Amino acid sequence: MKTAYGICLSVVLAASAVLASFAQSVQNQPAHSAWSVQLDQIRRVAGMIPGRRALRVNVLKFAESRRSKKFSVQGAPDEPSVQARTVFQVVYADGTLMIDSGMDEQVHRFFGRGVIEPYYSDAAKQVERALRNARAIIITHEHGDHVGGVIRTPFLAELAPKTLLTRAQVEALETNPQMPEIRITPDMASRYNVVDYEKYLPFGPGLALIKAPGHTPGSQMVYVALESGREYLFIADTAWHMDGVRLIKGKDAPWIQEEGAALLAQLKWLNELYRTEKNLFIVASHDDEEHKELITRGVLGDGLE
Ligand SMILES: [Zn+2]
Repeated sequence: MKTAYGICLSVVLAASAVLASFAQSVQNQPAHSAWSVQLDQIRRVAGMIPGRRALRVNVLKFAESRRSKKFSVQGAPDEPSVQARTVFQVVYADGTLMIDSGMDEQVHRFFGRGVIEPYYSDAAKQVERALRNARAIIITHEHGDHVGGVIRTPFLAELAPKTLLTRAQVEALETNPQMPEIRITPDMASRYNVVDYEKYLPFGPGLALIKAPGHTPGSQMVYVALESGREYLFIADTAWHMDGVRLIKGKDAPWIQEEGAALLAQLKWLNELYRTEKNLFIVASHDDEEHKELITRGVLGDGLE
């Protein structure tokens, strides 16, 4: 008969064998495979939380930056391009989730760097209303145009407890914020729901977060599968324009600092999905042309509910 100790010991031995083989496999991996995820794993993780899946996804543009396309995609021509500042709303039968939180006009002005660019106050009001009505707010990454709306808001007491921030996002916001306006203190950080996870995090029926540091240390992607079976992958700023995914080209923007190798691995993976997964829609936060096309095709709803 096996004693409790015997069982324990065999579990420990098995675990250390797994660890040893894991360490071995990590050692054997070439450096470029540091970031790797798999769609079938993501689909499984998204299925971990029982319940009715979302019905639809909406987009709203509340501001624009006008920049040459050459900054968004390496090698692109020096031609005008609209960078849409957006939020997304995932609609379930019994409530909504927000992906990103927008920003106030002062943070928007930071991005204009002296040039006044469009800020749609009515749309910004809609963002605020949708944030207040949402059951939860997911932040793709810690840049001002995505996280500003849950930091610089008169409704902080209401929004912070239902906002999910990752540990990496909080660290960046505390120690190395994109702009002074969005810096948070540890005391303020404790008001949010702060999580950490290794690779994937199930967050709702059909919904999973995917850790994807690269554009920023706290970047993550959001996978959503609707009740209808249609799938979305919100890639935030992994690419500013979908040409970055189509051509596997990074940005050419000297004012941002990205993790180049991770970014390239992400773009390669996204390019493969783009070519092979016809029911999965990869959505880049700032690609105005893509959003217009997906709205026309009925893939994204135009405006928030
Ligand atoms: Zn952005």
